[in-house]
Amino acid sequence: MIIVLKPQPTPDQIQHVLERIEELGFQPHLSQGVSRTIIGVIGDERKLQATPLQAIDGVEQVIPVLKPFKLASREFRPEPSVIEAKGIRIGGGHLGIIAGPCAIECEESLFGIAEAVRNAGANILRGGAFKPRTSPYSFQGMGEDGLKLLKAAGDRFGMPTITEVMDPRQLDLVCDYADMLQIGARNMQNFDLLKEVGRTDKPVMLKRGMSATVKDLLMSAEYIMSQGNHKVILCERGVRSFEDSTRNMMDLSAIPNAQGQSHLPIVADPSHATGRPDLIPAMARASVAAGADGVHIEVHTCPEKALSDGPQALLPDQFAALVDDLRRLAEVLGRTVDSCESLAV
Ligand code: PEP
Ligand code: MN
Repeated sequence: MIIVLKPQPTPDQIQHVLERIEELGFQPHLSQGVSRTIIGVIGDERKLQATPLQAIDGVEQVIPVLKPFKLASREFRPEPSVIEAKGIRIGGGHLGIIAGPCAIECEESLFGIAEAVRNAGANILRGGAFKPRTSPYSFQGMGEDGLKLLKAAGDRFGMPTITEVMDPRQLDLVCDYADMLQIGARNMQNFDLLKEVGRTDKPVMLKRGMSATVKDLLMSAEYIMSQGNHKVILCERGVRSFEDSTRNMMDLSAIPNAQGQSHLPIVADPSHATGRPDLIPAMARASVAAGADGVHIEVHTCPEKALSDGPQALLPDQFAALVDDLRRLAEVLGRTVDSCESLAV
C-alpha cells in the first residue's frame, strides 16, 4: 500500500501518519521526494483496507501496490536509490566502476591488478574468494586467505571491496572482510541465502540468474529487502540463449526495464555476459548509454595465467581506455564517477 501525502506536508502531519501506521502494527517506509512525500506500508492488505487511512490529516490518496515486489518497486520509492560503500556511490546519477580479477589468486597478482584498475579509474575492487565453478575439479577459490588479501588490497589502494558469498555458512566470514556482498547468478534464487544477506547491513550486488526474467530478479531483490537490508544493486550479466558465439546473451533492455519498475540501481557485467574481450568495451559503453548505474568488469594483468575466466579478462590498458570512454559518456549524460580516497601509503 502506498500513502501519498498532500503537497508540502508539515513534519507533524508526517509524524502522525507514521505513528498511526505503527499503531496498526505495520512498518512504514518514508520516502521524501522533491515534489511528493509518500509512505509505503507492507502487510495484510485486508487489514489495511479496513482502516480509513484516507481520513488521516495530510493524506491525499491511498493506492495498493499491484506489483508482486513491493519494497523494490518504483511506486514504493519514486526517486532512485543511491547505495554507498566507503564513500563510493552507485545509483541516482553516480556510476560504480567495479573491476578486478575473477578470482583472488595470490598477493602479487591481486595487488598488481588492484593498482592497475585503481589507476585506470575503477572505484570498487572485485575478486572472488569462493568461486562457483561449473566443474568441481576447477579452482574453487582461496577462501579466507583470499578474503584477507582482498581486504589488504582494498586498504592499500583505498577502494571498497566486493566478493561473492555462495552459502549462508560463509556469510559472517565474508562480512568480516568485504565492504559489499555479491550474490552470483547461480544463487539468485537461493532464498535462504538471500534472506541471510538481507539481515546484514552490507550493500548487496544481486546478479541476474542465467534463466531469470527481470521480474524474477526483482522478486529476489525483494527477498533481501524484506529482511531489512534495502541496499541492493541489481546486475545484468546476460542470460542463456541459442547464440553460441558469446558466453551468454547480454540483455541491454533489462537495464531501462528494471529501472522503470524499480528504484534500485542496476550495473552491467559485460564480462560474464559476452565472455569476449573484443565485445566487452562496446557492451560496457552501450550499457552506460542505456542508463546503467555502473559496470562490473574482470581485469587481469596476465590472463593466460588466470585461474578462472582468463579468456574474458581485459588487460589493464584495455580497461583504462574503456574507463576513459565511460567517463566521457558519463559527462555527456550528466552523471558522475566517484573517486577513491587517497592512497593509504
Ligand atoms: C563472477 O562474478 O565471477 C561470477 C561467477 O559471475 P556470475 O555469477 O554472473 O556467473
Ligand atoms: Mn568470473
